[in-house]
Amino acid sequence: MIPASAHRLSVIHRAVKDLSPFRTVILRVAKNPRISPLLLLALACHPAPAQPPAISGQSIYSLTAQLLAAAPKRYNGSPGHLAAENFLKAHFKPEAAKGDLITDEFTATTPIGPQTMRNYIVRYPGKRDGIIVLASHYETNYPLRDTNFVGANDGACTSALLIEIGAYLRAHPPQGYSVWLVFDDGEEAVANPPYDPNQWSDSNSLYGTRHLAAKWYSDGTLQRIKAFLLADMIGDKNLNILEEEQSTPWLRALLKQAAANTHHSAYVFQTEGSEEDDHLPFLKRGVPSLDIIDVDYGPHTSATPDGYHHTAQDTLDKISPQSLQISADLFLELIHLINQR
Ligand SMILES: [Zn+2]
Repeated sequence: MIPASAHRLSVIHRAVKDLSPFRTVILRVAKNPRISPLLLLALACHPAPAQPPAISGQSIYSLTAQLLAAAPKRYNGSPGHLAAENFLKAHFKPEAAKGDLITDEFTATTPIGPQTMRNYIVRYPGKRDGIIVLASHYETNYPLRDTNFVGANDGACTSALLIEIGAYLRAHPPQGYSVWLVFDDGEEAVANPPYDPNQWSDSNSLYGTRHLAAKWYSDGTLQRIKAFLLADMIGDKNLNILEEEQSTPWLRALLKQAAANTHHSAYVFQTEGSEEDDHLPFLKRGVPSLDIIDVDYGPHTSATPDGYHHTAQDTLDKISPQSLQISADLFLELIHLINQR
């Protein structure tokens, strides 16, 4: 992905407005004269025991490490790309057996010639007519092929996030809308090395999602999609999910609500900006779409104006189980809230 208009550094930083829910409860109790200070103290000292999370951030982190070990470089046409595809397929054998793992192969016309690309779709049928799509790209940037770029945050951890969401849905089948996972290919611009951010254009990017949105428009699937939710770079240790301004307003409101419900408001929408990303092909065809992305990744220096993004520094040690936990919580709560609308 790439910023749509202004440079990432120019995103507007907003003040932290949200009080934590715990502090809100304490304030509310403190205003009630019938509740003794002793009870207040007891509340503060004995918070309710935490429920184990439905999806473990630690598991997503471990799976990211496994994916990076199996397929460190996943650029189009490389052995690592094939290894990444095999890694994905190995995690969805039960769905494959039911015909719910679909390979969407196509030929992309790129500036350096035709390339074979493959999206993977994994379906979890629900009980209501309609589909919630969760998406992440899994390949790494082709122009960075000669560097040590592995995209721990950029592609790997969000693919692992979707795999773990899939494992959860296998054990807890959707009771509302169907949920479909999309592992899309060719998100990045394609060009011969060296890498240059200006290689990105409308026609040289988002190959997989442009292809899939067009295909699903032709076969009528698009009309059944209630929401398209994109995960991108949300393993960042210092998580700060952007309010992506092109994303559908009601989905942005729902993410804010999901963050409040899961006590993660501090990590969501403290900055705003516009991103070119895999949500756009769906958004342009009228599908409600949300880019859940953290673009402020690592320190911005003169040598690395874009932080760790698209550098050899985008490695496992820059992401955290805690951030992946927050991201997983938000996705599950979003699915819940979309079903309640
Ligand atoms: Zn990238």
